[in-house]
Amino acid sequence: MSATRDPHDLARLIRDVPDFPEPGIVFRDVAPLLADPAAFETVVEGLAGSADGVDAVVGIESRGFILGAPVALRTGAGFVPARKAGKLPGETVSVAFALEYGEAVLELQAGAIAAGQRVLIVDDVLATGGTAAATAQLVEQLGGEVVGLSFLLELTALRGGERLAAYRHRSLLSY
Ligand code: AMP
Repeated sequence: MSATRDPHDLARLIRDVPDFPEPGIVFRDVAPLLADPAAFETVVEGLAGSADGVDAVVGIESRGFILGAPVALRTGAGFVPARKAGKLPGETVSVAFALEYGEAVLELQAGAIAAGQRVLIVDDVLATGGTAAATAQLVEQLGGEVVGLSFLLELTALRGGERLAAYRHRSLLSY
């Protein structure tokens, strides 16, 4: 197992890519961090930190899968993917929500979470909070209890934290 990194070192492993995927957006690319095993391990530990007594970790497509799956293993919880529309087989629940431009739909498999299960939601970036709030809504639709949301980084100017005020949420880094 690799040595962990000081959390302050993580920020320099996140690459800012201007005008991606469209003009005016600064994309926060976590690929260099994922490629560094010590940094990746530090992030997984940090995201799992608040995960006591969690039955399921829901990772949001797609970087939430990469971060959420090791968090689930570390906490002894199951992993459940929240996917974009049309990707999951069988019966699903879905919710439409607003993006900065346009709309998106997220889905969970109907049997993925049992009533009363304690759920931690994981994603890489908290921006406006629309994606995370929609995921929390899906979990609750299935009868799950959202006990926390963990993000690698939060873009504070977009005030996603306010949107999630009803929930315990934490971000390892703030921009
Ligand atoms: P939001 O619903 O506005 O909070 O957007 C969060 C979702 O969009 C997350 O799944 C992120 O992966 C992605 N996202 C939003 N803004 C960015 C950004 N500037 N850089 C990287 N990913 C982003």
